[in-house]
Amino acid sequence: MTARILDGAALARAIREELKPEVVACTRAARRPPALHIVLAGDDPASALYVRNKERAGAEAGLVVHVHRLAATATLDELVALVGGLNRDAGVDGILVQSPLPAVMGPDAEARVFDTIDPRKDVDGFHPHNVGLLSQGRAVLTPCTPSGVVELVERSGVTIRGRRAVVIGRSDIVGKPLAMLLLQRDATVTICHSKTADLPAVAAEADILVAAVGRAGFVTPAFVKPGATVVDVGINRVTERDRVVELFGDGSARLADFDARGSVIVGDVHPAVADIAGALTPVPGGVGPLTIAMLLRNTVAAALGRLKPAPPG
Ligand code: NDP
Repeated sequence: MTARILDGAALARAIREELKPEVVACTRAARRPPALHIVLAGDDPASALYVRNKERAGAEAGLVVHVHRLAATATLDELVALVGGLNRDAGVDGILVQSPLPAVMGPDAEARVFDTIDPRKDVDGFHPHNVGLLSQGRAVLTPCTPSGVVELVERSGVTIRGRRAVVIGRSDIVGKPLAMLLLQRDATVTICHSKTADLPAVAAEADILVAAVGRAGFVTPAFVKPGATVVDVGINRVTERDRVVELFGDGSARLADFDARGSVIVGDVHPAVADIAGALTPVPGGVGPLTIAMLLRNTVAAALGRLKPAPPG
């Protein structure tokens, strides 16, 4: 392996430490700690785990974190009503509705829920108001995973300005906002997706390559310019032993992990990329912890923002 490993877990710890004085100041000014309210609808085990991690990290940082659980049978109207109540509650600083929502709520459920959240409490940064501010370069609440990626790249000493950045994935929560953030930092940005022609060749032009696809080991060495910085956003659970052997080899630590647990979490980047990239984020321990650190930061920013008087009009 030649790539420098960009340790997201260590950086996330550092960011959480940096936040502590702000949490103290905010708590003093508001006479209560910043309050994050998370809505978890349904019983998706991965979502439950993410929410537990957010709850724990928030509590450790001195925030109040409250989780509202809705049954998988809850209706979209019930969810929207719950969010409406949190919007009106002066004791709530940040609202996060964990996705994915139960399929029974329908394909447009997430958009309707994100549209409902008060933009000033929208710690995920998904409300159209905040998306608009982001595209104009004046966002206060920026989507957590993209801002975590930028934080990790910048604090690792990788120059963004003037470099070619390629983002594979164009979702509203990762690909598009990340492309915007990289553009604002003066990268020349290309966004790729499932219809992109000659994807490996386009990706191989990147000085900074971000994979946000959702396919284990999708980005092979053919996608990577030697020395490039490769950021792996993907979180994929692999449950077939043969696939783990294919990716990591017989006798690897990850295979031992698989044999012990019956599955492993794998990124979108193939392990062989470590031999060609200049720097690489691991999965787990790369972008994931940063996402949570950015959520805490957004919650503190939302709490501080709500201490200021509302703008006229
Ligand atoms: P989406 O499924 O919403 O988007 C995936 C994107 O990848 C789409 O734009 C899709 O293209 C593109 N894509 C799919 N297949 C291909 C292909 N064969 N070639 C090129 N592009 C392709 O996923 P998300 O953006 O929500 O998440 C991406 C990954 O990041 C997932 O693994 C997810 O679990 C992970 N994730 C990790 C987070 C973290 O904290 N680390 C947070 C959020 C997500 P098209 O638009 O054409 O369909």
